[in-house]
Amino acid sequence: MPICRLCKKENQLQKSHIIPEFLWKGLYDESNTFFGITGTGPFGHRKLQKGLREPLFCRACEQHFNDAFEKPFNKQWIKNTQMPKVWANDTLIWMQFDYATFKLFHLSILFRAHVSSLPDFTVVDLGAHAERIRNMLTEENPGEVHEYPIFGYAILHPETKSPVQIVSSAQLSRIAGTHCYAMMYGGVEWYICVASHRYKEFEKLALRSDGTIPLGPIPMDKVGSIRRTAKIYASKRT
Ligand SMILES: [Zn+2]
Repeated sequence: MPICRLCKKENQLQKSHIIPEFLWKGLYDESNTFFGITGTGPFGHRKLQKGLREPLFCRACEQHFNDAFEKPFNKQWIKNTQMPKVWANDTLIWMQFDYATFKLFHLSILFRAHVSSLPDFTVVDLGAHAERIRNMLTEENPGEVHEYPIFGYAILHPETKSPVQIVSSAQLSRIAGTHCYAMMYGGVEWYICVASHRYKEFEKLALRSDGTIPLGPIPMDKVGSIRRTAKIYASKRT
């Protein structure tokens, strides 16, 4: 009998997805232009194929992911969206979420990507952090605000300034010597930084303990450039 990657018990496994179904709805046609004919977008993002599944978790754990993380995120991010239809200027927009369920949802995607054997997620290797994040997910414990900080940039169509729905593979980058994983879903390029040390610059951009997060816009042809910018910014400060 196979072993569930979340509860670590022997059980029949479900065919699990990495990115939940509800984030595939209403994908914008422009994503085809973004990824070009090679299937690769700016700064190495690859378009994710819809419907990829693999046996990873038992039925009870799939239900746990769904009830504890996916339903609350769907409600907060899609049903009660705070994303403007048109991002009129380049200002930051402060959004408000439930800290615990919002953070745990993103960590659940990262954890799924870590245990996945699909080529789109091979860069995700959480090392010793995998066990810590697994415990956070089973206990529904979002941890401290400086643990695995999350920030993001809304991906905008360069002309219409509307958020673009794109789902991408995972990218690894080192920002100021810290491993950060970037993935696009829900109209945003999300970053989760995985480190044992604390890096205060991330905390200015990241989800706060009161559930607020500043989201800035980025034109879709510049997606990923923030990684370079952040590196330059960090090197100037030292
Ligand atoms: Zn399980």
